[in-house]
This record gives sequence, structure tokens and C-alpha cells, in this order.
Amino acid sequence: MQLTVLGSGSSAGTPVVGCQCETCQSKNLRNVRTRCSSYIALNNGKNILIDTSPDLREQALRESLTSVDAVLFTHHHADHCHGIDDLRAFCQINKKQIPIYGNQFVIEQLLQKFKYAMLEPKDFWEIPVLKPIVIEQPFELFGHTITPIPVMHGRGEILGYRIGNLAYITDVSEIPLNSLELLKGLDVLLLDCLRLKPHITHFGFDQSVNMAQQIMAKETYFIHMTHDLEYDSLQNKLPENIYAGYDGLKISINE
Ligand SMILES: [Zn+2]
Ligand SMILES: [Zn+2]
Ligand SMILES: [Zn+2]
Repeated sequence: MQLTVLGSGSSAGTPVVGCQCETCQSKNLRNVRTRCSSYIALNNGKNILIDTSPDLREQALRESLTSVDAVLFTHHHADHCHGIDDLRAFCQINKKQIPIYGNQFVIEQLLQKFKYAMLEPKDFWEIPVLKPIVIEQPFELFGHTITPIPVMHGRGEILGYRIGNLAYITDVSEIPLNSLELLKGLDVLLLDCLRLKPHITHFGFDQSVNMAQQIMAKETYFIHMTHDLEYDSLQNKLPENIYAGYDGLKISINE
């Protein structure tokens, strides 16, 4: 299977509107970060999207993504779900309802904010047609086991996900011991690294590096980065097997 990083940026994206800093003015395309999301293309042709960022339309065009078979939501924050309306395109193309997965709280929030998109299909594809499904335990999807990984995002508990030996953990300030148990033997880990300094609801650079070294995936890629982290300077100070993610990065993993 192959994971594509659709967006590696934090809630503001990079460049930040109105910012004159070195990263925001950089000509290096790896410093252009849309809001945080990835998708996994399974070998059986199914595509699993993680979150629907406000940049989903632009990301789908950039990556020629024309079908989404399921969405895994990490949490309800605007930078992770406000692109939900752009799922309409995939419903329209494939004339299919798309199942969306999240914990109880996320699904409640999505139902409150986007109820119009959660109706049963009626041959009317001018709105997204989504089927909300609450998950708390590992579940089967397209022949794969998806394991939800509860992590703390400030005081709120959100979900990371593991599929085979790949795990995706964004917006995290603490990984509980039980969840660390679920992250053993990984080939690839995508991990939140917001900025240089720590933050109350996210790992900063030191915490992300420490956690990556504790989890010991064969390769760790940082995501959800602000303009505080210039691509080349960040990459130059990362230890072995830890890499700065970027928009368009593709990672292949054995299924
Ligand atoms: Zn976020
Ligand atoms: Zn900036
Ligand atoms: Zn968040």
C-alpha cells in the first residue's frame, strides 16, 4: 500500500497569510504546507482518506485523487474536518455513499455541524452523502484491520490510526501507555511535530524526536508543522530514520 501526504501543515497552513518570515517567503516547495491530511491507497484499489482538510479540493487535484472509499477522522477541529463538503466530488463521480469513521465525540460533532451531508443516498449527488460510523475498537475495512489509537490532544482524547505496520498520529500532546503498546513493530510512523517550542496541545520538536525514538518505527515522518519549522533546517537537525514530511510525499509500505 502507499500513503500520500496530502497536507503536512498546521491549522494556518504555510505560508501563513500576511507573514514575512523566512519559511513563508521561501522558494522551496517543501515549505508550502496545506492543512494536515493523508490518504492510503490499498493494493486492492481502495482509497482511505485520513481527515478532510479545508484544502481537500486543491489536494485532490494536485494528486489526481478521484476516488475515496472511506474516511477516518482523527478529531473535530476545523483544520481536520472543514473540507468535508469537498467529499461531494467523490460521491458524484462514483455515485456512492462514503462511510466516515470516528469516535463517539467526533461523530456527534460532525452530525451537529454537517447534518446535511449525513443523509441516505437518494440519487441526488449535489451534496456529500456520508454514512457516519462510531468506532472505539479495531475494525475491518476492505480486508484490513484498522486499529484506533487513543491519544491526548491537550485535555481531549482523539484518535490516531494503525493499519498494518503503518501508524498516523496527528495533534498529540501525550501518548498513553496503553496506546504505546499498540505502536510496537511499526515500519512507518507519521507523527505531529508542531514547532520548535512545546505547545499545550501538541508535541514540539524535542517531544516529537523523543517519542519517535521511543516508538522506534523504522521510519518516522513529521507532519502538522507550522512555519516555525523551515524544511531544510529541520531536516538537517533530525536524527537517523526521522524525516520532515512534505506535501506530496509518497511512502510505500508492505501490506
Ligand atoms: Zn490540527
Ligand atoms: Zn511565516
Ligand atoms: Zn486539533
